[in-house]
Amino acid sequence: MTARADRTAMHWGGATDVGRVRTSNQDQFLARPDLDLWAVADGMGGHSGGEVASQIACDTLGRAYADQTVDGLIEAVEQANSAVYRAGHDNPDLTGMGTTVVALAAVRHEGDDVLAIANVGDSRCYRYADGELDQVTTDHSLVADLVRDGSLSPEEAAVHPQRNIVTRVLGVYDSVPVDVFAVDPRDGDRYVLCSDGLFNEVPEPAIAAVLRRERDPDAAARHLVHLAVEGGGRDNVTVVVVDVVDDGGRASTASAALARDGGAGGPGGPRPSPAYAEDDADRWRSRRRRRGDTAEIDAVPGGSVLADPEVGDGEDEPEAGRPRRRRRFTWRVAMFTLLILVVIGGAVATIQWYGTSAYFVGFEGDRVAIFKGRPGGLLWIEPELVDVTDLERERVPESRRQDIDQAIEQTSLSDARRYVANVTEQADELHPLSTTTSTVATTTTSSAPPATTTTAAP
Ligand code: MN
Repeated sequence: MTARADRTAMHWGGATDVGRVRTSNQDQFLARPDLDLWAVADGMGGHSGGEVASQIACDTLGRAYADQTVDGLIEAVEQANSAVYRAGHDNPDLTGMGTTVVALAAVRHEGDDVLAIANVGDSRCYRYADGELDQVTTDHSLVADLVRDGSLSPEEAAVHPQRNIVTRVLGVYDSVPVDVFAVDPRDGDRYVLCSDGLFNEVPEPAIAAVLRRERDPDAAARHLVHLAVEGGGRDNVTVVVVDVVDDGGRASTASAALARDGGAGGPGGPRPSPAYAEDDADRWRSRRRRRGDTAEIDAVPGGSVLADPEVGDGEDEPEAGRPRRRRRFTWRVAMFTLLILVVIGGAVATIQWYGTSAYFVGFEGDRVAIFKGRPGGLLWIEPELVDVTDLERERVPESRRQDIDQAIEQTSLSDARRYVANVTEQADELHPLSTTTSTVATTTTSSAPPATTTTAAP
């Protein structure tokens, strides 16, 4: 695929994949070779917010980019910001949605072709030149800030659990500062626009190796996406490769200049030309500062920052504005609480069963009685009176009376009844024809008939 500006000509290829974990692809890329414009956007936000945000950003960028200059590119990114912002405010389901954007455009600048690269968020632009891969853009992310502070090494940042948190995003505020870099197009240089799904899965040396081997930009883009998916695919991944195939004679001029300066142009020699036109980028930044729209956005209101839903867990569309780490923590707390409740519930059930499963024989007033439960009760479980027998305390043999006073545990109700029957038998043997008991017997006859009836009934 070829695009041609006045002099600079470019080939390009692009690919995107949902990855292995997510169920929707919130990444989007824009290719407008007719405008020499390419972009990658990585959307974020609940419901379908992420997909909508990156889609609106790419559509608006392509539509609003009329003036092929650096200012024209900045203007288009700002319009994309407004469009996402308005859509988020018009639809409650999309509130808080946002997207990163990294765009590359070949523009005319003071009579020359220049590559302008605009960036908001943590999608990246790399340049592959002379066998080396350089990151052109600066990530607007928490870990990038920490690396700049020196409180995190790049190696630590690459595996940091909060590496998904971006500190600047398109569509959350009515205006957003846009970073712009200007680079001289040079024959043979390759540019990679990508979402974090690439560089979080594929180490930079591996990215460079693919760019070295795969000459076709489309094959290179597809190969890189494939590597990211194979590497885990924990996020959506999008790659656009743009090759400078004709710089209008700029490279040979640069080589000639270097040769004059005494630098060797061959392999192993010093690298020609600085990575990017730093003064130009500085000038554009100061221009924006004069326009008063460079207020740094470090966080969204409420003190939390937008999180690109992280990799590797079942939830596909977390709310924007809340770091994923905290959500995972909440899940753990919930699971732990549930476990504790299950353990406590089990313990209560066990005590309840133990406390009520047994029987014992004791005295209720001056009568022998059968109770359900444990003698003296167990925690909150009081023994339950099951049956008061006719056997009176004074008829119970002395030896048994002490036992019953201390309560005789029985494993079942029938065991308890058998015990009472034995004691009653002993009592009858001890006091068979006592006159004193005859009066007792008379008193007991009042309760005897019902007992007789019940036994006679069957
Ligand atoms: Mn992403």
